[in-house]
Amino acid sequence: MGAWEKNVRKVVPYTPGEQPDCTNIIKLNTNENPYPPAPGVADVLRKFDAQVLRRYPDPAAEALVCALADHYGVKKGQVFVGVGSDDVLAMSFLTFFNGKKPILFPDITYSFYDVWADLFRIPYQCLPLDEEFEIRTEDYFRECGGIVIPNPNAPTGAEKDLSELEQIMAHNSDVIVIIDEAYIDFGGESAVSLLSKYDNLLVVQTFSKSRSLAGMRIGYAFGNEKLIKYLNDVKYSFNSYTMDTVTIAVGVEAVKDDIYFQKMLKKVVDTREWTKKELRRLGFLFQDSKSNFIFATHPKCPAKALFEALKKEGIFVRYFDKPRIDNYLRISIGTDQEMKTLLAFLEQYLGENV
Ligand code: PMP
Repeated sequence: MGAWEKNVRKVVPYTPGEQPDCTNIIKLNTNENPYPPAPGVADVLRKFDAQVLRRYPDPAAEALVCALADHYGVKKGQVFVGVGSDDVLAMSFLTFFNGKKPILFPDITYSFYDVWADLFRIPYQCLPLDEEFEIRTEDYFRECGGIVIPNPNAPTGAEKDLSELEQIMAHNSDVIVIIDEAYIDFGGESAVSLLSKYDNLLVVQTFSKSRSLAGMRIGYAFGNEKLIKYLNDVKYSFNSYTMDTVTIAVGVEAVKDDIYFQKMLKKVVDTREWTKKELRRLGFLFQDSKSNFIFATHPKCPAKALFEALKKEGIFVRYFDKPRIDNYLRISIGTDQEMKTLLAFLEQYLGENV
C-alpha cells in the first residue's frame, strides 16, 4: 500500500454483538430490554413536527439535562449527556485520562475500555478478577492515571459493594474514578449518593438497557460541576451537536414516567430470578447477577458448542472467545416466554449431549 499508511491511526475496533436481520429469533445477545420504552416516547414520535428539524438542536440538550437533574436530585451543572454511554465514556477517557501512568480496569470487563485506551494512546493495566470473578478492591490501591469499573460488572453481572468502591475513590483522590452503571437499575446500589463526597467521581449511566432505548442512543454522566465543565469543553471541541432534537424530546419523556419504569424493571428482575433458578436446576454455574443478563458456564457442556446449537435454533446469546471466559455464555433476560423457550431447549440439549 501507499506510503501514507504509516500515518494512519490504526486501531483494532470493538466488536458489538450481532444484530441479525430476521424477526423470528429470540435475541438475548446484547442486553436489550424486551419491553417497549415508556408510552410517552411513542406519543412524542407520533406527534413530532418535522419542521423543527430545519434548525440545529440545542447543543446543551438543556431539556434532557434538566429532566435528569430533577429526577436524580443533582444540579444541572452536574449532568453531561451523550450519544449512548459509549460516547459519554469515550469523551471521559479523552478528557480525564491524560497522565503518563496507566489507567486501571478489570481484566474481565466491558471490552470497549481497552479499545478507547488504544485509540487515545492511554497506557492501561488490566487487573485480574479473582478465581470467583470478583474485583479485588485492594488491587486498586495504587498509583495510576485513573480507574474505570462497571458496577455491576459486565459480562459477569456481579455487583460490587458500594462501600468497597468508595474505598477505591478515597485511595485514588488524585485521579478520576469512573463507575460505569449501565446496568445499575436492575438491582444495584448507585454511586450517585457519593457524588457530594468525592470530587474525583464520575458516574455514567444509559437509557439503552433499563429504559428500553438502545436504538435512540442516550447516555449520561454525573459528577461535580468542575468535572462536567471539563467534559463539555472536550465535547464542544469535538462535535457541538451530539444530541439530536428527536432524541432530546424522547429522552425527556422516558425519564418522566417513573411508574412505568419501575413496573418494567420489576418484570425483568422477576424473570431474571426465575431464570437463575432454572439454570441452576440444569447444572449451570454463575455469579449472582444484579444486571439484565446472566453469565453462565456448564461444567459438562462446552459453551461454544452450546452457543452454536442455540444459534441454529434461532436463539442468540453472546459468546466471547477470550481467555478465562471462553467457556461462558452471556444470556440477556428476555420476556418470560423467551426464557421458557430457551430453558426448554437447554434442558433438551443437555439431556441429549451430556
Ligand atoms: N457500559 C457497559 C458496561 C455496557 O455493557 C454497555 C453496552 N454495550 C455500555 C456501557 C454502552 O451502552 P450504550 O452506549 O448503549 O449506552
